[in-house]
Amino acid sequence: MTVNILFAATPDRWSTYQAPLSKALTDAGIDFDLRAQFAPSDVDYIVYAPNSDVQDFTPYTRLKAVLNLWAGVENITGNATLTVPLARMVDAGLKQGMTEWVAGHTLRHHLGLDAHICGQDGIWRKDIPPLAQDRPVTILGLGELGQDCARALSTLGFPVTGWSKSPKIINGITTRHGPKGLMQSLKTAEILILLLPDTPATQDTLNPTTLAQMPRGAVIINPGRGSLIDDNALLAALDSGQIGHATLDVFRTEPLPASHPFWSHPAVTVTPHIASETRPVTASQIIAENVRRGEANEPLLHLVDRAQGY
Ligand code: NAP
Repeated sequence: MTVNILFAATPDRWSTYQAPLSKALTDAGIDFDLRAQFAPSDVDYIVYAPNSDVQDFTPYTRLKAVLNLWAGVENITGNATLTVPLARMVDAGLKQGMTEWVAGHTLRHHLGLDAHICGQDGIWRKDIPPLAQDRPVTILGLGELGQDCARALSTLGFPVTGWSKSPKIINGITTRHGPKGLMQSLKTAEILILLLPDTPATQDTLNPTTLAQMPRGAVIINPGRGSLIDDNALLAALDSGQIGHATLDVFRTEPLPASHPFWSHPAVTVTPHIASETRPVTASQIIAENVRRGEANEPLLHLVDRAQGY
């Protein structure tokens, strides 16, 4: 029987996904009808971006699962009309992109690249940075993205500490968990990378108390979510020098409003939620595999725990 798949995302994404997703579904041996429009009562699966027009799932009476195109699911986990399983995106391309972005921004701060490249004022600034082995890095969030970044930074020589909700053992990485583990992880964090999801429990993870734990002049890199940081506390910590620089890719309101003080703060780098994108070819293979699993009554990959919010 033909499987009806609704692609519920913005039109620009439909044009990039239609061909690779059709190919991946064909390669997975699925008899499918993939469209950007369907009568709701005919839909078996929704490939979903949380900013799509579909916000009420009630009319989708034969829906079997929602397959999110993004890693972050905070805009859908609380949707009470969604009663079928929700899978999030874990994509090799997304992971690779995040690791490259995190490594790049970590090295920028570690090496002091701004001072050496941009100092076109005739001053011969020869500040020798320490080697990576002497620059402790902490990553909050040791999931799909955090672990990949941790391994890459560790391979570059950084002593990496990672913090997560549950205990973990990861070769070469110092791991911690729980509230006490957070404070210990922050104490050594000369560079701090945030890769936690946006859930009620992670709101304002960086606040006046936690920022004060960090070494003076530490750098914060946030490709996770804007809600992880108390903006006013960060601005105060930047003004006092407690935090030396913040590179921020995600914000409570996006695009970041023109009036927001982050734009003009000399110790803040704003990037436009560009750290990493789901890549159509690799992501399509994950979606096709989940449709195949759904049709074979096998457990779906990357299911979201709606109660935990990620
Ligand atoms: P993930 O695999 O779900 O990993 C989340 C990690 O956070 C896990 O290690 C989890 O701990 C930990 N965590 C969750 N709640 C916690 C809590 N209350 N206390 C301590 N640790 C907690 O997610 P992912 O795929 O790595 O993605 C992480 C986030 O990156 C996404 O949610 C999204 O917000 C963001 N993102 C941003 C971009 C961008 O372009 N800026 C792109 C993609 C993703 P456990 O391991 O113990 O469960």
